[in-house]
Amino acid sequence: MATVVMKFGGTSVANIERIQNVARHVKREVDAGNKVAVVVSAMAGVTNQLVAWVKEASPLYDAREYDAVVATGEQVTAGLLAITLQAMGLRARSWTGWQVPVKTDVAHGAARILDIPGGEIKSRIEGGEIAVVTGFQGIEPIENRIATLGRGGSDTSAVAIAVALEADVCDIYTDVDGVYTTDPRIVSKAKRLAKISYEEMLEMASLGSKVLQTRSVELAMVYKVKTRVLSSFVAPDAMQPFRADNIENIGTIVCDEDEIVEQQVVSGIAYAKDEAKVTLLNVDDKPGIAARIFGPLADANINVDMIVQNITPDGKHTDMTFTVQAAELPRTLEVLKNAKTHIGHVDVKSSADVVKISVIGVGMRSHAGVAAQMFQTLSEKGINIHAISTSEIKVSVLIDAAYAELAVRALHSAYGLDND
Ligand code: ADP
Ligand code: ASP
Ligand code: MG
Repeated sequence: MATVVMKFGGTSVANIERIQNVARHVKREVDAGNKVAVVVSAMAGVTNQLVAWVKEASPLYDAREYDAVVATGEQVTAGLLAITLQAMGLRARSWTGWQVPVKTDVAHGAARILDIPGGEIKSRIEGGEIAVVTGFQGIEPIENRIATLGRGGSDTSAVAIAVALEADVCDIYTDVDGVYTTDPRIVSKAKRLAKISYEEMLEMASLGSKVLQTRSVELAMVYKVKTRVLSSFVAPDAMQPFRADNIENIGTIVCDEDEIVEQQVVSGIAYAKDEAKVTLLNVDDKPGIAARIFGPLADANINVDMIVQNITPDGKHTDMTFTVQAAELPRTLEVLKNAKTHIGHVDVKSSADVVKISVIGVGMRSHAGVAAQMFQTLSEKGINIHAISTSEIKVSVLIDAAYAELAVRALHSAYGLDND
């Protein structure tokens, strides 16, 4: 008997028929004797609607009330799934974040899970009851209010519950049948990866592949949670129930690097559309100028990602280009305006019409030329690069948004990832 955590995303629970389909996946595991905790997202579109209502009510909303509103979507799904399971003759009970309890910090809207005392749920599932837990939410310790984990946070709830229950596997059911070399909705030739390392999945997620929330991969990596990405749209009876010895023939397994035999140099390509570019023109080129620009941004909690500095022809000035999250652009411009006396009166240009494309692979540690091939491929397509950043296992470039799909497709072919 194994303990299995099954997470179902918004599209998988979009209506009652799909919730019934999810219930059949759960029943398959229960019938095989597995102990099951299910983590659910809000029904497709619900969280977006709730967020929109909050913003319509007041653009300057109270973050605690934002969480009170947006956490409701998951509660609806958990109740509906518990009712559906009961109607199928199974024993099931729903649990909200505060009931579990999923203890988080107080960063409303982007809270981190600190601890999940899993005792009550553990004893219930050991007694044969199915626990249906709301994803995306927990309870903070200061005012005991609901806190949500950031968009896509149900993945993180699922991995954290798997840690708390010492589960044998955390199965993330979604609308694609695994992690692909790139978003299969953009590149039809994308290939499903049988396995991907935690490190690569972490980069893919943080560089824009929203199939798993970044924090969920961090947690899985730290606690060595065996995590699989599977499709809920496969007929429930066409899948085998989980057994530790038949884990490999389905979906994608996120695991340690050394469990992967055939390692590619480049495993995947990610893109992120939510970047914005800011350029300060003709800044004095003297010691301390970078600190004067980036210090105030750091003080305002604005995360700067890529940075490029170009010397101007007179040799005394420099153009400084950097990227921030598109949502932070108005605040960034405001901070720069207020810091004018320190930085000098320079021209500021900005654009949110950019996209960051990244190639990722642990093989880059031992293979040279990955970046050069990326630049060559983009240049052959006439695509201009605005900024570059690299780490041990990834290269990212910033380009005009209009070329996003062309760039991803061209790179996918160039690195030999196309499914033919
Ligand atoms: P859920 O609602 O189940 O959490 P998400 O929409 O958050 O689902 O994540 C699944 C989506 O992630 C897919 O529909 C797919 O378009 C997108 N995606 C982006 N990059 C990848 C990738 N490399 N592999 C698989 N899916 C990806
Ligand atoms: N419902 C939340 C969202 O849409 C959490 C999730 O689906 O993972 O962001
Ligand atoms: Mg998701």
